Amino acid sequence: MTAPAAATPVLEAQDLAKRFPVAGGIGGRGRVVHALNGVSLSVAAGETLAVVGESGCGKSTLANCLTGLMAPSAGSLLLQGEDAALMLRREPMRFRRRVQIVFQDPYASLNPRRTIGDTVGDALRIHGLAARRERRGRVGQLLAEVGLAEEHLDRYPHELSGGQRQRVAIARALAVEPVVVVCDEPVSALDVSIQAQVINLLRDIQRRRGVAYLFISHNLALVRHIARRIAVMYLGEVVEIGTAEALGRRMLHPYSRALFAAAPAIGRPSHDPPHLDPGRPPPLSGDVPSPIDPPPGCRFHTRCPHARPRCSAEAPALRLVDDRLVRCHFAEEIAGHG
Ligand code: SF4
Repeated sequence: MTAPAAATPVLEAQDLAKRFPVAGGIGGRGRVVHALNGVSLSVAAGETLAVVGESGCGKSTLANCLTGLMAPSAGSLLLQGEDAALMLRREPMRFRRRVQIVFQDPYASLNPRRTIGDTVGDALRIHGLAARRERRGRVGQLLAEVGLAEEHLDRYPHELSGGQRQRVAIARALAVEPVVVVCDEPVSALDVSIQAQVINLLRDIQRRRGVAYLFISHNLALVRHIARRIAVMYLGEVVEIGTAEALGRRMLHPYSRALFAAAPAIGRPSHDPPHLDPGRPPPLSGDVPSPIDPPPGCRFHTRCPHARPRCSAEAPALRLVDDRLVRCHFAEEIAGHG
């Protein structure tokens, strides 16, 4: 079997690293935060790749690097086969038209002094996609596509509900007809009852437009519904990546196994408590180590119930095991125990 990868990638990260110098403070000078380390992943047209992990695992730094909001320290990013760093330097607007982002907090991402019509219309204006006289009609079409009415055109963000504001943020992203939308925890600030509506909207849009989503989330139950493939991150590294179907059947990396142990399985009713399944590993204990001094060898060895001397001495590579890529020296053996 081969590891599942994006068919023809529209966005492809190769060996991305991001390091930040630690700002001042006692003992901070000269130290470095290793936020991303050797991250390689890709997403194809019409596909959703979910990136999951605990807070502090590097998900949002990855989102910022993939959308050109942050320059990676090392590695490369290809957008439809073109070098994204070069495109960002020479033709930043061309990059920004193709790659959009929807943030977690729609209220913070919308200008409170601009009407909804102006906010969405600005995207069309800045990219020269609609003449002034056509703009209002085009914005109306975009609002209709995300389930809002023409009456919302002249409203301000504070006059809308959280779900409606996120629909506006989605309409603004779609206005420039992107090929990839990075969704950074797009529903986690919304009421549970609204989350499903926004997720269904994103899926409908993907079916119609063939846009690729990179869906960043800590909500494991959610990503199982929306993603074709899932990448699990720990302390700045991808530790397991494969199809949602394969990972839903069985996790191989001890971190993924523990992380998903606390979430309902695919096909399992959400009211079925995971702790009733005797085959499941116990949930994670302890805190994520500091990315300033990540543990040597396998970054997970300080929390791994299967750790042995080799784990702290030698960093495992991301390698093919069965039908996915796994970063663990002993994945086959551990899976055999599962
Ligand atoms: Fe655990 Fe060792 Fe595998 Fe790391 S390499 S996940 S510490 S068994």
